[in-house]
Amino acid sequence: MDLAQFTLQYDRPSTDVESLKRAIANKLMYQIGKNPESALPEDWLHAVAYTVRDHLVERWMKTTRASYAQDVKRVYYLSMEFLIGRSLGNAMLALELAGPVREALRLLDIDPDSLPELEPDAALGNGGLGRLAACFLDSMATLGVPGFGYGIRYDYGMFRQQIVDGQQVEVPDYWLTHGNPWEFPRPEIRMRIRFGGHLQEDGGRVHWVGTDDVLAMAYDSIIPGYGTEVTNTLRLWSARATEEIDLSAFNRGNYFGAVESKNHSENVSRVLYPDDSTLEGRELRLRQEYFFVSASLQDILRRYRVGHTDFDALPDKVSIHLNDTHPVLAVPELMRLLVDEHGLEWARAWALCRRVFSYTNHTLMHEALETWPLEMLGRVLPRHLRMIFDINAHFLAELNAELGPDVERMRRMSLIDEQGERRVRMAYLAIVASHSVNGVSALHSALMRESIFADFARAWPQRFNNKTNGVTPRRWLAHANPGLAALIDSRIGPAWRRDLEQLQGLRAHADDADFLHTLRAVKQANKLRLAQWIGQHCGLHVDPAALFDVHVKRIHEYKRQLLNVLHLVSRYQRILAEPNGEHVPRVAIFSGKAASAYRMAKLVIRLINDVAAVINADARVGERLKVVFVPNFSVSLAELIIPAADLSEQISTAGTEASGTGNMKLALNGALTIGTLDGANVEIREQVGEDNIFIFGHTAAEVAQIRNGGYQPRQYYERDARLAAALDAIRAGLFSPDEPGRYQAIFDTLVNWGDHYLLLADYASYLDAQDQADARYRDPLQWSRCSLLNIAGMGAFSSDRTIAEYARTIWHTEPLRIGSPGGL
Ligand SMILES: *Cc1c(COP(=O)(O)O)cnc(C)c1O
Repeated sequence: MDLAQFTLQYDRPSTDVESLKRAIANKLMYQIGKNPESALPEDWLHAVAYTVRDHLVERWMKTTRASYAQDVKRVYYLSMEFLIGRSLGNAMLALELAGPVREALRLLDIDPDSLPELEPDAALGNGGLGRLAACFLDSMATLGVPGFGYGIRYDYGMFRQQIVDGQQVEVPDYWLTHGNPWEFPRPEIRMRIRFGGHLQEDGGRVHWVGTDDVLAMAYDSIIPGYGTEVTNTLRLWSARATEEIDLSAFNRGNYFGAVESKNHSENVSRVLYPDDSTLEGRELRLRQEYFFVSASLQDILRRYRVGHTDFDALPDKVSIHLNDTHPVLAVPELMRLLVDEHGLEWARAWALCRRVFSYTNHTLMHEALETWPLEMLGRVLPRHLRMIFDINAHFLAELNAELGPDVERMRRMSLIDEQGERRVRMAYLAIVASHSVNGVSALHSALMRESIFADFARAWPQRFNNKTNGVTPRRWLAHANPGLAALIDSRIGPAWRRDLEQLQGLRAHADDADFLHTLRAVKQANKLRLAQWIGQHCGLHVDPAALFDVHVKRIHEYKRQLLNVLHLVSRYQRILAEPNGEHVPRVAIFSGKAASAYRMAKLVIRLINDVAAVINADARVGERLKVVFVPNFSVSLAELIIPAADLSEQISTAGTEASGTGNMKLALNGALTIGTLDGANVEIREQVGEDNIFIFGHTAAEVAQIRNGGYQPRQYYERDARLAAALDAIRAGLFSPDEPGRYQAIFDTLVNWGDHYLLLADYASYLDAQDQADARYRDPLQWSRCSLLNIAGMGAFSSDRTIAEYARTIWHTEPLRIGSPGGL
């Protein structure tokens, strides 16, 4: 079909209040099938969502049309996780519909503030990695980079965290209960995904036969760009049983058997693995990875072949980006498709492959580097294991030809780890197949080259590069903090939403007392909003005038929530010891989930809650210190908490946090950072100036030295009375009187078992930095000035900057050109 010649008569939805009101009423009646008397709040929410979605569809069609017409190079961003959060507010922001929709809802007698709260988060990710993917989709659309996100439509996203008796309890998150108005099911787009079976060979050709199959069905959502008509597509795959299963079982009269095995095969997209930074090598996880990668690759080749008869132009039209190693099976899968299904010669296919893929590394931590046992890979994906062997042989031969034979180097760099149970090293496969390998902050990229990938960086230095992460200013400032957004608009206009460097213009107001007062008032209002929420949901009164000290992110030993707890215990003890001292009132706010199998992280959550209970109930402390653990951290909670933060805790052991993006969101919202020289904190310091950030602790190089020199944490315990008092209180059961031994393991981990993350070595300098923060907070004008200079310095941390760099130096894509509004 020639799209350009196809015209369709349709009514473009109008944006005036009266039309929106009618549209919402129409959706409620004709799409939801409810009358106003029986409509639930969720029904109204869906009516609004469908109404708003209608306004995106024309842009979406135009984008698709333009990208075929211009035969642009498309970027395919493959990610196991997309931590999207809610969609309504973001869509209304892009369409500038928030005001008129509120008005329309008021006319319908619906409270416009209550509805958005009902939308469940699309929590298809664990934390930073998934949220980065979501910010990238937003920026790609905004910059007109023709891009698709590909992932899995998990039935159950990230678990809901409840706190029961101070402890984390995981509850399944069935986010699709009321349906998802943002997705378009595409039952006609189904890909066959094969598992198991065995290989047969005839004359050099390999046939993969006897497989167990499942279908991947597409669900699309529209990703709006901001200030542009370009939109992109997020295509998520959901597993469906093949028809054969139903049919064969029907013939055998085994109805229940059929349904059972149908359910079983559909398990592959059932649930997100709730792990972050550690990997549990479960077979279902391997199947998930292959499932979405195979479906995506088939879809990508199908789209490419709409306009191409051979594969010569594949690298000019297709860029496939691997978000961490989870999608690396895309490499042998593309090879399989090209060689087995399309009959390309192996060497030709491999040459194309290596120009198509690029890879982002997200962690240096050994336990997070993905490997799969040969035994499992050979059983689940025999064709791919064979392909990996062939790639490895080709790669090692090439290496020896270039650098001269070296058995030891070959052993180190082989895609197969031969030690113990033989395993495939997925990160190495990614590097070998990719023309670009990037880290996510300057420090991380440097360490990546020097440590885990040193051999590869030596062999192929030009392949390695840095792309410091960023966050979208639309969601994380314009949407989450409308008060601050309006204040910024009043001074520098609204264009920062698409050009965050414009925030530099705020520096001119750094000594404008009126402006600083208003900035403070905006922060105060956000703190009041959070304080009310905490009062309602956590039953705790907190004083909005106190310093809000915010530590929100996954709970992990390397992120050192425990160091923060040590500080709070010391602060508590100091308040008790100096009852008449001048203590700057603080509210310490924690939020974050622990992987369900991560015992130490769960123990830390329990400790935070126990410490909170004791301190909050101690009348001697009063308003001078409150501690709260906000359950169920999520994107929408982050949108509530971050705008209310005064102080941003970014205190990972130097050399462990690849970048962090929470640090960026918080500084963008005017929080001052207390942090180590880790990840992107290093670059944040450069941008905001060292006077406007509280840096403490050992550097990555010092951490390595301390570890090599035989670190003895006990010495710190013995020499620092404050530290000893805090640790002793925890060990002795001051915070767990009903079970005094509850935190013995925490004490031992730090004092007796090596303190792997160097909490004790950084404790004293952390407390000094906290004192500096207190001192600064005593001078409100000075604090607001720093806050302003933080905001002003955050231009570099827009994900638009990050994506522009990816597009220019990795993907080599041109922005899509789209005509003015009107007519398909
Ligand atoms: C930004 C974000 C993260 C990442 O936080 P870090 O501090 O970079 O670890 C995790 N979870 C959610 C919900 C986020 O919005």
